[in-house]
Amino acid sequence: MDSYTLMITTCLTAATMALTFFGLAAASRRETYLIMWGCAGLMFLCNSVLACIAFHVQLPYLLAPGFANTCTVLGYLFLLLGLRLYLRLAIQLYWLPLLATLTYAVNLLPWTQIDVSHRILLNFPILFGLQTIIVLLLFRHRQPQLKKAYTALALVFILNAAQMAARWCYLLVDDTPGLTFLGSQLVQTLGRLAMFVFVLMATFACALLVIRRQELVLREHSDKDPLTGCYNRRALQRLLDQIEQRRPPQPQPLSLIIFDVDHFKHINDNFGHACGDQVLAELCLSIQQELRSTDLLFRLGGEEFAVALPNTQLHVASQIAERLRQRALALKLSQQPDCRISISLGVSAGFTNTRPWTELLKQADSALYQAKHLGRNQTLCYAETNC
Ligand code: GH3
Ligand code: MG
Ligand code: MG
Repeated sequence: MDSYTLMITTCLTAATMALTFFGLAAASRRETYLIMWGCAGLMFLCNSVLACIAFHVQLPYLLAPGFANTCTVLGYLFLLLGLRLYLRLAIQLYWLPLLATLTYAVNLLPWTQIDVSHRILLNFPILFGLQTIIVLLLFRHRQPQLKKAYTALALVFILNAAQMAARWCYLLVDDTPGLTFLGSQLVQTLGRLAMFVFVLMATFACALLVIRRQELVLREHSDKDPLTGCYNRRALQRLLDQIEQRRPPQPQPLSLIIFDVDHFKHINDNFGHACGDQVLAELCLSIQQELRSTDLLFRLGGEEFAVALPNTQLHVASQIAERLRQRALALKLSQQPDCRISISLGVSAGFTNTRPWTELLKQADSALYQAKHLGRNQTLCYAETNC
């Protein structure tokens, strides 16, 4: 493999990285992490363009390798800053001039200027440190839905750091005369190949993170009811199917509560549709506060809602339903203090391995129908005897 061809391919890959992320940033302006990753591509491009030029023309040391090496370090720092923004963490931009100055100063030391291997020995620990921070960040902030994308990016950095560490150790023990800046010694050529592979794989892995984030945002929009923020009917089907398909060692009970606002039509007629909307939104907010993080609240349609309580038996679900009823009675809108509501609730429960959730939903619905029939503002369980 010749170094020059590898440098040209790295130029093209780094340009692709910069164009990809700047292009994506132009399309979605709020995602500032894309700009950081575009800048990372630009830094890697600067480094490889300078190396290509130096192949033909003698460049001053200050420019190549001095400035070129600083660009590489900044490329890694931009990747780190972009990742922090992606994870919704704060960034401090003063790190850019700080690290640039430090790297540049290190590369201008008389000992560093003597030999390529000296520069590698001093620059690699900086790059190694940055990559370690990135991997730790990915590990600390891992989210189950983004697991594959996080693993891919972490692997890119781990493999790259490993090849750097191997070359660093080799240079530490190797006492053959110095490498040359554009030489074709194996350590140099492998370094250029590693740089090309790293830029390519980092672009793919970062793009994967972007795609997965967009996918999650779209799913959030398609699963949630915009007025109340509850899950909608489509999500009900998907999430309850998921609960049913989970096969824990012991069969687990699932409880469902269906509730409906009593005489909601009167609320609309007496206080206006906007007030009705506000009642629904505030009711859901209040009910969410009563539920556990594993419970799920759905809007079935209009003023009818369902709550799924995984791993919950009927008598517990009935107590929770009563607390929800009390919450509805206590609900008071600040702008309309006279607008008060009550809800009726139907509860059912069963073991997920013996009874499909669709049947539980029908049973809860029939209990709700009975609660309405018996005068509203009450909780009724299917199979009355247990409640
Ligand atoms: P019941 O106690 O038997 O449930 O009586 P109800 O008046 O609550 O039931 P009904 O089915 O007669 O009326 C439901 C009303 O809910 C009619 C509909 O206009 C209103 N509604 C449905 N969705 C919304 C919404 O998103 N916002 C508002 N403001 N009203 C809604
Ligand atoms: Mg109603
Ligand atoms: Mg209704």
